[in-house]
Amino acid sequence: MEKQPSLAGKLWLVGAGPGDPELLTLRAARLLASADLVVHDGLVGAGVLALIPPHVERISVAKQRSRHTMKQDLINALIVRETQSGKQVVRLKGGDPFIFGRGGEELDAARTAGIAVEVVPGITAAAGCAAQAGLPLTHREDASAVSFVAGQCKDLSDQDWSGLAGHGRTLVIYMGLATAHAIADKLIADGVSPGLPVAVIERGTTADARVVRTLLTDLGDLVAREAVQSPALIVVGMVAARADALDCLGAPGIAEQIRDFT
Ligand code: SAH
Repeated sequence: MEKQPSLAGKLWLVGAGPGDPELLTLRAARLLASADLVVHDGLVGAGVLALIPPHVERISVAKQRSRHTMKQDLINALIVRETQSGKQVVRLKGGDPFIFGRGGEELDAARTAGIAVEVVPGITAAAGCAAQAGLPLTHREDASAVSFVAGQCKDLSDQDWSGLAGHGRTLVIYMGLATAHAIADKLIADGVSPGLPVAVIERGTTADARVVRTLLTDLGDLVAREAVQSPALIVVGMVAARADALDCLGAPGIAEQIRDFT
């Protein structure tokens, strides 16, 4: 049995969506206006932060990759402590709290502490960025399955992605910029066609958004050549050929291959 909260404080784990403030849920916007404290990530866009009224206290907990684990413990302790002091605390996270957002860990911490907690979903980057790019993640002709994976993990080679990309499937890779070369190598080694279209969506749904497209074999070079900046998503699959994207082809002949696919 969970412990009953002793004070009127409450914690909301709120998804901020992929960047564009108009993609917030109505509930998220209402909570931002009525909170006592907003604890937010670095990924939450300036447009969303601008919706927080000036009298609402805010704390940024932008993560440093090297101190990820310890930092998360501190974040958990902070949001629990502030809620226990009686505040209405909004923990604002980019995209959806439960997609690569460590929202599950924060929920566990809240449950363990016995504080009142509620989760407010957000539009995850894959859905928001693909929509803006005119890239349907599923399509009757191209893909009836879609998978989300994290590309950042130290031991990419330990992760089993077999069967997640290829014919009839769409693979969306979060946090994959730094490992783009290794990702392409891994997929090709798993039997995925080097000629499969890929799209890279940079800063999706923001004013600076850019979408570039090539073939899987050229993915790592594309990211380097175009100096793609974080945050960015990689979409692997036939649907990538449908994106409103700039074709950025690294080698002669690749353009023809892309046309063959479309
Ligand atoms: N909880 C978030 C994901 C956090 S992981 C969500 O549901 O969207 C952070 C990764 O999300 C980034 O490295 C990037 O791959 C992706 N991402 C988040 N916002 C993005 C954006 N506006 N454009 C492209 N990728 C984005």
